[in-house]
Amino acid sequence: MGEIFLERPETATEIEALPVRQPVADRAAALRSVANEVAECRRCALCETRTRTVFSDGSPEARVVFVGEAPGADEDAQGVPFVGRAGQLLTRMIEDGMGIPRKDVYICNVLKCRPPDNRNPEPAEIAACRRYLETQIDTLRPDVIVALGKFAAQFLLETEEGIMRLRGTWGSYRGIPVMPTFHPSFLLRQPDRKREAWEDLLKVLGRLGLPAPARKGGLTR
Ligand code: URA
Repeated sequence: MGEIFLERPETATEIEALPVRQPVADRAAALRSVANEVAECRRCALCETRTRTVFSDGSPEARVVFVGEAPGADEDAQGVPFVGRAGQLLTRMIEDGMGIPRKDVYICNVLKCRPPDNRNPEPAEIAACRRYLETQIDTLRPDVIVALGKFAAQFLLETEEGIMRLRGTWGSYRGIPVMPTFHPSFLLRQPDRKREAWEDLLKVLGRLGLPAPARKGGLTR
């Protein structure tokens, strides 16, 4: 491989807008390095109340990255994103709906620590955590990003627009296509909106050049 990789940056601050996708071993190493940084992070007050930081789940080879909002109680306890009820729905959306094993995608959040009582992320917390998600995406350079809910969509698309207007329409984050869709927690509360989320995921499959799984009529469970 070219010399471009010899000076691989080591910190979140330095890993910025890499010009090409690195070899997978380098991507994995870069992500481990940032995860270690996050585990020690004290940039905002959420470090006082977290049990564990929640960096990511999935593959450094992923072609699609799902970005959520922030860890909840289950994620805070386990240190893994999207493992509670909303996470179980997300897993069904990915595996049963899209036909992709969860381990083959990459899942992370705007915030790496749980806001107390699952309140909304505050702007200062998002700003403090910004560099970590930027680095994750710059390192992975996926083919598609799925923004789950308002906070991920607004972060990635740099807009104040609500998710009702954003969902279903392609946007772009540093040249990477972004599909905003509903957050699984919202879909648990409003199951009648699953049809729209399924339409959004079909667009993602189309962009990835993957067929929609034959069965099932989408996100029916
Ligand atoms: N909701 C999120 O946005 N992220 C998680 O990891 C869990 C629930």
